[in-house]
Amino acid sequence: MIKKIDNLGRVVVPKGYRQMLGLKPGDPLDVDVEAGTITMSPHRDGCVFCGGPNVAAVYSRKNICGDCLERIKSIPIA
Ligand SMILES: [Zn+2]
Repeated sequence: MIKKIDNLGRVVVPKGYRQMLGLKPGDPLDVDVEAGTITMSPHRDGCVFCGGPNVAAVYSRKNICGDCLERIKSIPIA
């Protein structure tokens, strides 16, 4: 698919692609350049505790990685 960049540098992401990825207006995208190619991907927040990218669970809309989840499970109940 060929898209043109407008005068302000914007490109429209096709509606079908937005729907496939569940993207809504205002959603953040990660934009990267590597070897002459621009990629855009939905931004996913990392672990709320360590910032790691490998999210194993979501609680109260906060991402938690597997390592932090195991540490939380081992916390003695007060
Ligand atoms: Zn973590």
